Amino acid sequence: MGRLLLLGLAVLALVWLVRRALRARQAPGDAARTPGELVACAHCGVNLPRAEARGAGEGLYCSEEHARLGPRRP
Ligand SMILES: [Zn+2]
Repeated sequence: MGRLLLLGLAVLALVWLVRRALRARQAPGDAARTPGELVACAHCGVNLPRAEARGAGEGLYCSEEHARLGPRRP
């Protein structure tokens, strides 16, 4: 009977370890997908979440207007 209990505990520990390992592997992917990363508008330089930025040509812009105007010239 004691052996069965030990086996049960071993299985529980194994399940816990596997679940923890799976969660640890998913974490970096989730972090990369979060829209929290800030990018600068190539025209006006304002920072905005990457998810809200518009890509045009080689830069990222805060609005359609700035995407149309393109990078600010010095
Ligand atoms: Zn802008």
